Formats: sequence, C-alpha cells, structure tokens
Amino acid sequence: MFCLVYKSIASLAFRKIEIAEMLEKARDFNAKNDITGCLIYYKGEFLQYLEGNQIKVLELFDRIKSDNRHHTVELVSYGKIDTREFEDWSMAYEDFLGDNDTLQFLKLLVASYFESPDEAMEPNPTSEYFWRTAKRLLKSGELKKF
Ligand code: FAD
Repeated sequence: MFCLVYKSIASLAFRKIEIAEMLEKARDFNAKNDITGCLIYYKGEFLQYLEGNQIKVLELFDRIKSDNRHHTVELVSYGKIDTREFEDWSMAYEDFLGDNDTLQFLKLLVASYFESPDEAMEPNPTSEYFWRTAKRLLKSGELKKF
C-alpha cells in the first residue's frame, strides 16, 4: 500500500459547483480503482491525501498534476504504508464553509500544516497525526460529507 500527499493552488475559475462536479467523477474513478483518501480545500488551496496501489496512485497523480483547474502542485510526502487511513472513503472532502467547534479545530490544524508542512517526504508521525485527526473529525459527523 502506498500513500501520497500534495498541495496546490486552485485556479480562480474553480468554483464550488465545479469542485462538486470534479468530486463526483473523482469518487467514481477512485472507487473503481481502490483508491481512497481525503481532499481539503482551504483558502484557495488544496491539500490531498491519496492511498492505494502505488502504480495506480502515481498514474492518478500524473493526471491530477496536469489538471488546469489548479496549479503550483507540490508533493508534500509519499511512501509505503501498512494500512489505509481512509478505508471507507473514495474521497472525503472538507471546505470549511460551515462553522462549529470541530471545524474550527480542523481549520487550525490545516492552517498549521499549510504554514509548516513537514520537510520529510516519507510518511512521518506529524503527517500521520494530521490525517488521523482529520479522519476522526470527518467521521464524527459534525463535518459534512460533500
Ligand atoms: P479529462 O476529464 O479528459 O480532462 C482533461 C483536462 O481537462 C483536465 O486535466 C482539466 O484540465 C480539464 N477539465 C476536465 N474537466 C473539466 C471541467 N469540468 N472544467 C474545467 N476543466 C476541466 N480525479 C480522480 O479520478 N481522483 C481524484 O482523487 C482526483 N482528485 C483531484 C483533485 C484536484 C484538486 C483536482 C483539481 C482534480 C482531481 N481529479 C481527480 C481530477 C483529475 O485531475 C482528472 O481530471 C481526472 O482524473 C480525469 O482525467 P482525464 O485525463 O480523463 O481528464
């Protein structure tokens, strides 16, 4: 099992409705290819975690990189993992448009991740903690499943 995290900047033309449309197609593709993960949209930037078969994840990442709906795609980390973090989610999504304590907490976590992403390319305790917490909050039901 392999995981990969990248961040990017959304193109100005990428609006909410278009994100929803992209997510529908992405979830369908991911489910068929046994790829799971999480996409976070925060202040015009994307942070995505992908996990699954290494070749399939890398092929998908190649397509994602050339998608003109975002730019400045930067690899944050990648590496082998023993088990999935998002086994039930073909692509969990959060865009912070709501407002509650759970969301505020995740927002702080995401802000700190964006401001000082870990330098190491291999999955490490900081990124594992981040995605595990994101998953717990998403699963708590207080955040929406777009
Ligand atoms: P096509 O659908 O043939 O599109 C080719 C290009 O046309 C795209 O790269 C894009 O630049 C443009 N395009 C396509 N549709 C639109 C549209 N509606 N509006 C404007 N331009 C468009 N795909 C997944 O399968 N799984 C994911 O997890 C996933 N995550 C993504 C995360 C982000 C932040 C972004 C921006 C895209 C993501 N995608 C994901 C979509 C992915 O980039 C590809 O569009 C998708 O895999 C289809 O690939 P394709 O080569 O068939 O592209």
